Amino acid sequence: MWWKRRALGPVEWKCGHCGGNHSNLPTDFGWKLPDEIWELGEDVCQSYLEWSTDICHHEGRWFLRGVLELPFTFGEGRWGWGCWAEVDEVAIQKLWKLDSGSGEIFEPECGVLACEVPGYLGSKCLPLEVHFGRADLSPLLVLDSTSDHMLAFHQRHGIDEAQYHAILDLVSPK
Ligand SMILES: [Zn+2]
Repeated sequence: MWWKRRALGPVEWKCGHCGGNHSNLPTDFGWKLPDEIWELGEDVCQSYLEWSTDICHHEGRWFLRGVLELPFTFGEGRWGWGCWAEVDEVAIQKLWKLDSGSGEIFEPECGVLACEVPGYLGSKCLPLEVHFGRADLSPLLVLDSTSDHMLAFHQRHGIDEAQYHAILDLVSPK
């Protein structure tokens, strides 16, 4: 798992949930590998990580890492889940072409979420679209717009201060 602080959230804000002033709270939480690979044990994981930290190939299946964004309703910025998605090989080929700096624009590809997101029971395997952007940015993972799963709802409508706090509680190192 990785965990980092980035200046993508509100710089400093008064919190409508706890009444405190917050600054520099984490805005991202990520997975090093898809859940199914993670369960294969440390040695296997290490060999996958040495090959790539953004793409994973396992028994004919392809995975890529992207960002599933939940916009904040209370200010600038968003929470980012650094999730893996299982995709068709064509999505991986697009990613490689992006990396090569060809400047091509790519249509989204379909996939399914390959991580169970904390606090969102049953989120693994939700259908999504992979949106390709700039080569230096992770692709965006956009959940199916007709899904009534809470994670898809939060992606469409955003999360408030209380929901942001709940996420931080769930993912904070204990
Ligand atoms: Zn607060």
